[in-house]
Amino acid sequence: MLDVMKIREDFPVLSKKVYDGKPLVWLDSAATSQKPRRVIQALVDYYEGYNANVHRGVHALSMESTERYEDARAKVAGFINAESPESLIWTRNTTEAINVVANSWGEDNIKPGDEIVVTALEHHSNLVPWQQVARKRGAKVRILPLTDDHTLDMDAAESIIGPRTRLLAATQVSNSIGTIVPVKELAKKARAVGAAVLIDGAQSVPHMPVDVQDIDCDFLAFSGHKMLGPTGIGGLYVKRDVLERMNPFLTGGEMVLAVSYEDATWNELPMRFEAGTPNIADAIGLGAAVDYLQDLGMENVRDHEIALTKYALDAFKELEEELDVHGPKDTVMRGGIVSFHHPDVHPHDLGTVLDRQGIAIRTGHHCAMPMVQSLGVAATARASMYLYNTEEEVDMLVDALKEALRYFRV
Ligand code: PMP
Repeated sequence: MLDVMKIREDFPVLSKKVYDGKPLVWLDSAATSQKPRRVIQALVDYYEGYNANVHRGVHALSMESTERYEDARAKVAGFINAESPESLIWTRNTTEAINVVANSWGEDNIKPGDEIVVTALEHHSNLVPWQQVARKRGAKVRILPLTDDHTLDMDAAESIIGPRTRLLAATQVSNSIGTIVPVKELAKKARAVGAAVLIDGAQSVPHMPVDVQDIDCDFLAFSGHKMLGPTGIGGLYVKRDVLERMNPFLTGGEMVLAVSYEDATWNELPMRFEAGTPNIADAIGLGAAVDYLQDLGMENVRDHEIALTKYALDAFKELEEELDVHGPKDTVMRGGIVSFHHPDVHPHDLGTVLDRQGIAIRTGHHCAMPMVQSLGVAATARASMYLYNTEEEVDMLVDALKEALRYFRV
């Protein structure tokens, strides 16, 4: 079990007061998480103690920064159980990671008539790049639908994933309604028809144990800023044999071995996919975030979120006549995301009133427009929880919502 009160002391911003002294209630971790002191300190240590470019210097600072930077890679690779650190490419975020796959592997492997299968839940980051590849390559994007309970319709998946499927690209946890997708089962179906598998782990890697070898995926994309790490750093795991056959997306410095005026040869893995000076400080910061998460234990993080989500869904029952709460009923099938909607009050208005009480939630289409529109609405309000949230905060949310609805006289 997590000692949440102790954890909260590690996050300076969580003691912040907003407006006229209201304690900050951070329920927007699906957008970005807060950062513990350990991560902030890792950034300060880097800039104060050993700031230097990596992989090229013969001097002490460069050797130190290279060692710590590669150490961070090994930690993050280990966190997702990658076979080796070389299977982890640093990117800016999930979006960039998926774009690397689309522009490199996708351009080389998707052929006319092929099908790219995604779920109805996808964030734009795991939809738009595939629409682009499909358009360029004469392929088709197919959508795996949901059941009435907002879980993935596995019967439909059985008929949609077939001989034409070249890639299955699925989110593991929906950022808009919280649904957990059984990616291991889907990956098995995709493998059986010879398709490659990409998992969008933006909302799973921060919140639950994720094991790329167990899922048996070719690609896993995730963002550091959603898992207690800094912004501007993320990861792309690629299975070793797939990575060896992939062409680099960006070219230039760092990613080459030898260059003449006419031609160039590529550096070893994973540097081949990391052109230019990398985001050294933030990679090291993400390593510190992973240390923090591993010390807590990802099973414990997940258990805390299941319990808190259950508590929240129960608390929302008090508002069931007013609000539609989206997503599966079963907390085992959902992450710590509660998305809701009132038929007569715009989510932005709800969000603004909650904000005045110090409660930060997200409102809008959550970059999953087709998914949110399929709920019959243009936007929802979304509270998203993490390891530092408490039952008291959930109570504050529900009380503030009741008050907001009274204010709007609905
Ligand atoms: N996929 C999912 C499921 C997400 O929740 C997000 C972030 N909201 C992304 C992709 C994109 O992440 P980023 O903006 O860090 O690239």
